[in-house]
Amino acid sequence: MRILVVGGAGFVGSHLCDVLIEDGHKVICMDNFATGHKHHIEHLLKHKNFRFIKHDVVKSFEIKDSLDQIYHLASRASPIDYQKFPVETALSNSIGTNNLVKLSLKKKATLLFTSTSEAYGEPKEHPQKESYWGNVNPVGIRSCYDESKRFGEALLMAYRREMNANVKIVRIFNTYGPRLRPGDGRVISNFIRQCLKNEPLTVYGSGKQTRSFCYVSDLVSGLIKMMNSKFVGPKNLGNPREYTILQLARKIKKLANSNSKIVFKKLPEDDPSKRQPDISKARKLLGWKPEVELEEGLKKTIEWFKMLPVVNGYKDY
Ligand code: NAD
Ligand code: UDP
Repeated sequence: MRILVVGGAGFVGSHLCDVLIEDGHKVICMDNFATGHKHHIEHLLKHKNFRFIKHDVVKSFEIKDSLDQIYHLASRASPIDYQKFPVETALSNSIGTNNLVKLSLKKKATLLFTSTSEAYGEPKEHPQKESYWGNVNPVGIRSCYDESKRFGEALLMAYRREMNANVKIVRIFNTYGPRLRPGDGRVISNFIRQCLKNEPLTVYGSGKQTRSFCYVSDLVSGLIKMMNSKFVGPKNLGNPREYTILQLARKIKKLANSNSKIVFKKLPEDDPSKRQPDISKARKLLGWKPEVELEEGLKKTIEWFKMLPVVNGYKDY
């Protein structure tokens, strides 16, 4: 198949491109390098089935090739990062999604939109099922992200109802692995970077808030299964094993063999107190479940951080 991956030079997107190329597809990767980097796709650039286009999905564009599938991953995803660029983030998930759904109609392609567990906000149901409508602050500092993802979902459903667009929605829960940017600001990047630099691990709030962490290869297999299924979604994709942030800090410290202290910092505004996916739908309907345990995934991620070419001083790229 000919597949467009938008946001394909990012953390998840580049792993997705790797698997699609390995599976023998022709891949066009579009990215504006807002948070992605050419290092993530450099090894693919010479491959005969891979093409890169540097472009902002919010701006208009044309693709001459035929397309069978389009993955939309183009959005900043780290809270620190998207709060620095709220307009850009909101537009990537709204105008960007509109541009891609129109392209999918023109090409008769299937569009898969990567929404987020943040669509559930501060959840009043736990774990979160897809049927839960969420509890989101529409004008809070996270709304550029969570509300734009919710709007992206709504827009796709509108196109589907009115024009029979072939769309799919997944809600991704916290994912980690090699190619996370060290300076990205998300909790696993921060803790590993801090351990390796012998700096204190910064736990926000009491550290009793929970998250459930999915290894990137598991997520990518879920994305591909969803894309090739008959389901529209939304479907949760994540690892249901739930940890407090303090447990995570202690685990990373131990695995990285670090003497760093743990320090407590102010909890950011609107930081959800708990998060755990109910993945019974993905299990039953897609035959998907995560395979990689947190410890195993963290070991691989720590090794990758150690091997970064910029490891000295951890300059971000
Ligand atoms: P990432 O920041 O590594 O990847 C996003 C990619 O999109 C980057 O390469 C970036 O340069 C590109 N991009 C951003 N805006 C763009 C634009 N306007 N035009 C073209 N390219 C643009 O983040 P990620 O963790 O790989 O996330 C990928 C997708 O999955 C995002 O849409 C994110 O919201 C969603 N998601 C991720 C997680 C997670 O834990 N990783 C959780 C929930 C949802
Ligand atoms: N967090 C933390 N220390 C950090 C970074 C994040 O304690 O250095 C916390 C953050 O407050 C949140 C959780 O870890 O409760 C996950 O944060 P992240 O930014 O990775 O993603 P989120 O799930 O909030 O989108």
